[in-house]
Amino acid sequence: MADASLKKILGSITGYLEIERRMGVDCFLREKALQRRLDLLKEIEEEVLRCEKCSLYKTRKKPVLGEGNLYAKILFLGEAPGVEEDREGKPFVGRAGKLLTQIVEALGFRREEVYITNVLKCRPPENRSPLPQEVNACFDYLQRQIEIIKPSVICALGRFANLALSKNDLSLNQIHGKEYFYAGIKVIPTFHPAYLLRNPEEKKTAWQDFKKVIKILNPKSKTNKLLHLDF
Ligand code: SF4
Repeated sequence: MADASLKKILGSITGYLEIERRMGVDCFLREKALQRRLDLLKEIEEEVLRCEKCSLYKTRKKPVLGEGNLYAKILFLGEAPGVEEDREGKPFVGRAGKLLTQIVEALGFRREEVYITNVLKCRPPENRSPLPQEVNACFDYLQRQIEIIKPSVICALGRFANLALSKNDLSLNQIHGKEYFYAGIKVIPTFHPAYLLRNPEEKKTAWQDFKKVIKILNPKSKTNKLLHLDF
């Protein structure tokens, strides 16, 4: 075989091996980064299991840390676990959870592609509203979750999600439509799905808020094509 042909073949093999090596390195680094996120969330989960920073640990059945994609672009933030979440240890599993899943799907995602959590990790008795000292005591866990997940946008569902992130205790009517930033991440204040179940006439307004999420993720998207109002 001529030297030139041999050199060409060797060059191709070397190039191929280099591509394979880079893909292997990329894959290894991706797995390592994923493992790091899993480990950090596991650490928080263990701390929450032992947590006695507020009195809610006394009455909860299971704390609820959150669930979803560790690389989620959208983080949905609710208020606190309800009776079903407390029983199952998962966020948004009741009727409000079903509605949230419908919203996520109407936006073109599967529920497992987003991340869902609450301000409080333990259920307040009788589903009462969180107390400011409970929101403060629990905030460190949420802050760390957001740092780990690094979402592009946060949907803050209801008054307490917005209180936790904006530190302004405003009613949802006061803060609605006023987007803000938390740690450099755009926050869309909108209605809690439980509120939408009680006030279905607000779904249309809420849908306008949710469509903003898509606009943030993809500024060129034609959000007017998203017309699902049947959530
Ligand atoms: S609600 Fe938060 S701060 Fe209070 S006990 Fe549960 S994990 Fe701890």
